[in-house]
Parts: sequence; structure tokens; C-alpha cells
Amino acid sequence: MKALLLSEYKRLAIAELPTPAPSAGEVLIQVAACGICGSDVHGYDGASGRRIPPIVMGHEAAGVVAAVGKGANSYQIGDRVTFDSTVYCGLCEFCRRGDVNLCDRRQVVGVSCGDYRRAGAFAEYVTVPERILYRLPDDLSFSDAAMLEAVSVAIHAVRVAEINGAETALVIGAGMIGLLIQQAAAASGCSRIFVTDLDATRLELASSLGADAIIDGSRETVASRIAQLTESRGVDVVFEAVGRPETVAAAIDCARKSGTVALVGNIAPEVSIPLQKVVTRQIRLQGSCASAGEYPQAMEWIATGKIKVAPLITAVAPLDEGPSWFERLYAREPNLMKVVLDPRAGGEQDGAPA
Ligand SMILES: [Zn+2]
Ligand SMILES: [Zn+2]
Repeated sequence: MKALLLSEYKRLAIAELPTPAPSAGEVLIQVAACGICGSDVHGYDGASGRRIPPIVMGHEAAGVVAAVGKGANSYQIGDRVTFDSTVYCGLCEFCRRGDVNLCDRRQVVGVSCGDYRRAGAFAEYVTVPERILYRLPDDLSFSDAAMLEAVSVAIHAVRVAEINGAETALVIGAGMIGLLIQQAAAASGCSRIFVTDLDATRLELASSLGADAIIDGSRETVASRIAQLTESRGVDVVFEAVGRPETVAAAIDCARKSGTVALVGNIAPEVSIPLQKVVTRQIRLQGSCASAGEYPQAMEWIATGKIKVAPLITAVAPLDEGPSWFERLYAREPNLMKVVLDPRAGGEQDGAPA
């Protein structure tokens, strides 16, 4: 089969690899779409240490069941499916209570980090355990389905922030995840949602997706603008979708007393926090990692239009163009959002509306 192989750091090319066979409990999927994730781009040059070559990356995928292994009886050849990027064991303490993102034996598809190596979906075929599969609704296109992981991450952040409805929210960072959190927060009933970023184009996108106010952090101080917008109270919930010292500090400044700061971004491994502000204003800092069972909700909200993914897809391209798209993403070319690769020869249509 054809696959996009990272043979050494920053060396990505189409290679001919053996088509894998599904083991017991696994299914073989013919990949129809696979999104390039920020984590793939961060792994590409070795920065994250989580894509040690040789590795076929890619974990945001959808496709068609091509073969089933022994005991994998819930799916049939031809079923349209997607899968959780996390391969969880289903048995440990955390899996048993539904926190599959925190599985003791967690692996991620398309990752090699020293502890394990698991081939990903930038290839014509990939094998994954049956238990992480989800059936796709007929009217969800494969390219939209490649957005499900990112949408699930956003919904998870909103869930762990414990939105009950009517909260005011601030999203820091209008990248892919931030713009999806904005929409998930709206779908969850937040009354007013503000979005801040340094990039005017991204802020325009936030505006067109329904943000009640956008704040250009390169021109104004976020905390003072939030004070104006909330009669000096601060917002109920801040979603921090960047993960740098200055944005975490801004998040804490913008939360109301006893408010919540949901920490989603983590570009910097360490930041210092204004401890006394957090303690004396009794702010809750809540980490949010990946997703834990939010895929069905994500499918429903995309299907009903509560979450729009089309404006976030920059391009759907054949697998052969993968190396050049990685280069462009790695070079931080402006205005690129999600790039979805389609490994099918000639990019056949999937019959679903684009
Ligand atoms: Zn991802
Ligand atoms: Zn587990």
C-alpha cells in the first residue's frame, strides 16, 4: 500500500509498505480522509519527541471497513467509520469510569514515542482495535469526519469546565481548537462568548462563527476589555487554548471570582501563575486533555449545524501532496487551518455532501 512515511525528521515521502492485516479484535480500514494535526507538525522535526522515525503519522481519520479480524463482530466490510485517536485498554481504573483519555495504557494512533510505535492513517490502510470505532452517519462526509477528533477535544473542554448554561465565556486563541471551543460553548448554552487572538483574520472567522465580541490582543489589553464587557466582574469561564505564560496569566486575570479557567493549550511545558490571585479570588484551574467519549455528540452537533467545520478546512488534498502541505504548515504559512489528506487513488467521491 501507499503510505506517507516519516523516514527521518523532516523527511516525509510516499513509500510502498505492506498492507497490514487485522489481528484479533482489530479492523482494517481503507482510509478516505485523514487530517494533519498540529501535533503531527510538532512531531515532524522531533520537537515533541512523539514521532520518532520511522513512523506513519495520522490519527484524525475516517474511512471504510475493508477487513475484520477474529472476534471483531460489530462491523462489516463496507461500513463507514471513524475512530478515537486514543487507543485505550478498556480495563484499567480510568477506562472503567469512562475517563478513557486517561487510560493507564493509553496509546495514540500514528505516534511513536519510545514506549510504543503505532502506525497511523496517512496511508491507504490502517488497523485499529474495534472498540475505538464509531459508525459514521450517512450524511457526514469523510472530510468533515476527519474533524471529529478536534471537535471532540473542544466538547470535552466545555464538559470538564462544567457549563450549565447562561455562562459568559472567553476563548483565548482562535486557532482550530479555540474556534471549535467557541462553537461548543455556544451549543452548550453560554450566553455571551468573547474570543481573543493576535491574528485579525482568525478573529474575523471567530466573528463570522458568532462570537459576541472579538478582542485583538495585539492592540488592546484583554483583561481591561473583558472588564468593560462584564461591568468589571470577569467572565464565568475562560478557555485557554494557547498555553503560553502570557495567555495563562491573561486567562486568570479575566475570570470572575470563583470562576473557572479551563487549560487546554500547552505549548509551553511550564508557566508560572499568579498564585495569590488564584487563591484569594478562589479560581478553579481545570486541565482538559483530548476527549473521552465525545465523538457521538460531535457527530450530532456537526450534523445539526451547531458546530460548523467547513470554514476550518483549508484544503482536501491527495496523499501525494502530504509532504508539501507539511512543509507549508511547518513554515507557519498564514491562514492555514485544517488540511485533510485523501489517500484513495484519484480521490474518489464518498457520495456524501461536501
Ligand atoms: Zn489531533
Ligand atoms: Zn485503560
